[in-house]
Amino acid sequence: MIRKFFRHIFVKKDPTSNTVAKLQIIPCKKHKITRDQINPCAVKIATDLQQAGYSAFIVGGAVRDLLLGLEPKDFDMATNATPEEVRAIFRRSRIIGRRFQLVHVMCGSVTVEVSTFRGPLPANTNSAIKTIKHTDQHGRLLRDNVFGSQEEDAIRRDFTINALFYDPSSEEIFDFLKGYNDIKEKRLRIIGSPERRYREDPVRMLRAVRLAAKLNMQLDPATAAPIGDLAPLLQNVPPARLFDEMLKLLLSGHALTSVIDLRARGLHHGLLPMLDIILEQPLGERFISLALKSTDQRVQQNKPVSPGFLFASLLWHEILTAWNRHQTLEEKPIPALHLAIDEILTKQHKKLAIPRRFDVVIKEIWTLQPRFQARNGSRPFRLITNPRFRAAYDFMLLRCESGELDQDIGDWWKTFVNANAEKRETMLIENQAAKKRRKQRHRRKAISKNLISLDRSITGTEK
Ligand code: ATP
Ligand code: MG
Repeated sequence: MIRKFFRHIFVKKDPTSNTVAKLQIIPCKKHKITRDQINPCAVKIATDLQQAGYSAFIVGGAVRDLLLGLEPKDFDMATNATPEEVRAIFRRSRIIGRRFQLVHVMCGSVTVEVSTFRGPLPANTNSAIKTIKHTDQHGRLLRDNVFGSQEEDAIRRDFTINALFYDPSSEEIFDFLKGYNDIKEKRLRIIGSPERRYREDPVRMLRAVRLAAKLNMQLDPATAAPIGDLAPLLQNVPPARLFDEMLKLLLSGHALTSVIDLRARGLHHGLLPMLDIILEQPLGERFISLALKSTDQRVQQNKPVSPGFLFASLLWHEILTAWNRHQTLEEKPIPALHLAIDEILTKQHKKLAIPRRFDVVIKEIWTLQPRFQARNGSRPFRLITNPRFRAAYDFMLLRCESGELDQDIGDWWKTFVNANAEKRETMLIENQAAKKRRKQRHRRKAISKNLISLDRSITGTEK
């Protein structure tokens, strides 16, 4: 009886904040998540760990998503076994990471991430022999490899809704921070002191915006309050990590809402450099909104999306500006476009916003754009067989939709793409004929102009 009481109500004070952890165990009949909703590999790994005498839980995003009726992307696990102990149980497993060690356990084609409960870090220690710094001068965590108890692990997670543990054996949820309640009330609440948690890891501000958009939740007022002031801390985050988090945001299926919210909270400045400039131009804003909307739709329909396409869109208005500039400096259109591409991509790499592996796709989408305007001879046939045609074509349609490119061009291509071979031939012949008519009109105009001026010079009326 007493044991049961302690098992159900456990109060612990987090030593690093004013967070009070109070364990509630929620039974299956209340939360309704059953074992068969969990990936069988994850269930097997949890069972094996438990049979070896350890505790093991599904944790984080998967529990949250199941409670919200969403399909989890992956099933992460947390255990009190150390990485070496986990490694010893599973033949097909390997320890990864340095700053944050965890074990990848392979099961068929599935990989489950198993992490050992983390605890709070000791304050920065200075001794005569060595200095161990756990945070930088802004309070950002530099390492996070201290093991702890289950409740300490809950407390060091980011949001209450991400700190729920599901035991596949008992089908119970272990909730230390009222995360279950927050899920039901659609509230995103950071764990502990918001300011300190953002200082430890400024990426949490981006995660707040992304998760609120993805899960259709409201930021708790105290969680939202410090974001505006602390936004500049994002500058200290290693660019590769920032890029990964931005990519998650842009491919979340809720990119448009997230980007609007990033702007509203002043988080977009200096993030992806182009967002600063482009979102402030009406045409650029329209183009980006359309690009993000179509990406969101594809993600929501489970269609593949290409980050290259997305970045080509985000940078397009910078390319247009640079392209115009190079043309006014007497460059011909195509060489001017190549100069603009080199200039903008070099600028991006310096700030390291976009890794080079996306360059090929981005460049191809851009360099194919002028070819949609040249519709004579066999050119459209050559363009349509280009391996990157589809992406470039979708991109061109977005340009039309945003008002940057003449809608007639987009309509012509839509008909051409959907036509059979015979119809395509006819369209090209019509194009040829129209071109001929234009030329003749032009020639007639020129001749009549010459005749008028000849007439005037003969009659002496020329001014
Ligand atoms: P998604 O479904 O988008 O992947 P997620 O919550 O699963 O969302 P992950 O990046 O996979 O996000 O992280 C897994 C878990 O690790 C989170 O649910 C959270 O508990 C914890 N976590 C992730 N990032 C942080 C962070 N910056 N600070 C503290 N805890 C974090
Ligand atoms: Mg996840």
